[in-house]
Amino acid sequence: MVSVVWFRRDLRTRDLPTLLSADPQALGLFVLDKRLTEPAGAPRLAFLYRCLRELNEQLDDRLLVVQGDPVALVPRIAAQVGASSVHVSADAGPYGRSRDADVEKALGDIDFVRSGSPYAVAPGRVTKPDGTPYKVFTPFSRAWADHGWRKPADTNASTVDWIAPHRKSHIPADPFSCDLPAAGEQAALHAWAAFRDERLATYPDLRDRPDKPGTSWMSPYLRWGCIHPRTMLADLKPGAYRTELAWREFYADVLWHNPSSARENLDRKFDKIELDHDQDTFDLWCQGKTGYPIVDAGMRQLQATGWMHNRVRMIVASFLVKDLHLPWWWGARHFMKHLVDGDLASNQHGWQWVAGTGTDAAPYFRVFNPTTQGEKFDPDGDYVRRWVPELRDLPGKKAHRPWDHGFAPPIVDHADEREVALARYNAIKA
Ligand SMILES: Cc1cc2nc3c(=O)[nH]c(=O)nc-3n(C[C@H](O)[C@H](O)[C@H](O)COP(=O)(O)OP(=O)(O)OC[C@H]3O[C@@H](n4cnc5c(N)ncnc54)[C@H](O)[C@@H]3O)c2cc1C
Repeated sequence: MVSVVWFRRDLRTRDLPTLLSADPQALGLFVLDKRLTEPAGAPRLAFLYRCLRELNEQLDDRLLVVQGDPVALVPRIAAQVGASSVHVSADAGPYGRSRDADVEKALGDIDFVRSGSPYAVAPGRVTKPDGTPYKVFTPFSRAWADHGWRKPADTNASTVDWIAPHRKSHIPADPFSCDLPAAGEQAALHAWAAFRDERLATYPDLRDRPDKPGTSWMSPYLRWGCIHPRTMLADLKPGAYRTELAWREFYADVLWHNPSSARENLDRKFDKIELDHDQDTFDLWCQGKTGYPIVDAGMRQLQATGWMHNRVRMIVASFLVKDLHLPWWWGARHFMKHLVDGDLASNQHGWQWVAGTGTDAAPYFRVFNPTTQGEKFDPDGDYVRRWVPELRDLPGKKAHRPWDHGFAPPIVDHADEREVALARYNAIKA
């Protein structure tokens, strides 16, 4: 008997339950679906292609990579190899769920077998005792920890006898020449081991410091499933890092219950808030030319590397929503285009958290001051000088207030725009 193992957000062979459910002989398949590739910019695509090359190597050069519509391709390929079943990790996103339902239907007599998901606890499974979803993070995270998760599954590439593709496989060339983290499962396992052994202990103190290598950089690996969070959780005790992984699970759960929150305010009261739609200020934000050093550093880091530190993501997002009064989804779309770790659930809800429009919202009236945030989290100015080279001659904290040292003032005045944001919020509060 032959199976198809259809890889999607699980580009690994260890701790992969689909390999346990598949037949001993299987075809490994990945479909480059334009619904997946079109919203992604060059960094995420380059990282994906590199991960696929690594996976192909682990599968003895037998991974079939094809381009097209999975609803047409997966049943055709399964029939061509005489497969009796197609095995996947369940997709929890709105598009993935409807695509999988369509593929399952199109497969007819061929079984579609879902085993596991990209999360420690599958989205939708943690509920309040009355069966309704949690809307606030802290009680969710407690219930999530109480629910618990399985031990990592004992699998590797040799669990399955991979059959040779019967048609031409094609992984496109990298569209991005810049440095990205090393791709693939081995790199993910190494990165995790290095972080766990060398930096996990200082994570609670350094995680908010963009000027230090304090965080794990595991997000691109988690995005593509080069490592499963279960493998990481097996090494973790309760603490700050585990809580961050719980945020990832929470946002996937929120999206599961509210698929429209990928595009719309979760709190529909905010549909009425007055917004601006100025393309020129948006372009300045995208280019990192607002005049606020920490905002500009973050946006330029994103442009150059496809990544941005979490604290800085919050600061630049707050600036777009509360200082420029632009729609959060403009910023979210820009992030999704450029981030190497762009993930619909974490990104859209990270934006809604900052905008104050989401579940468990930070109150709208809490407005980040980009100057004091910069001074607090980049106290010596090293981060802003690294990404905004025109500030290189302003030593220490001075780099956070260039307008006091002969530079042009920022594009807007934070104190004024804060008042505007609060007035607009008060107008819809009742
Ligand atoms: C506006 C905004 C947009 C974001 N967009 C994304 C996105 O597209 N993809 C993405 O993976 N994360 C996103 N995040 C969350 C967070 O910024 C990144 O996960 C983190 O910066 C990745 O770096 P790291 O792996 O070094 O994080 P670490 O601090 O080492 O955290 C470890 C892991 O925990 C998870 N995590 C940490 N913080 C969060 C969080 N706030 N929400 C959800 N998961 C979290 C991630 O999987 C991360 O890899 C966003 C946050 C904001 C405020």
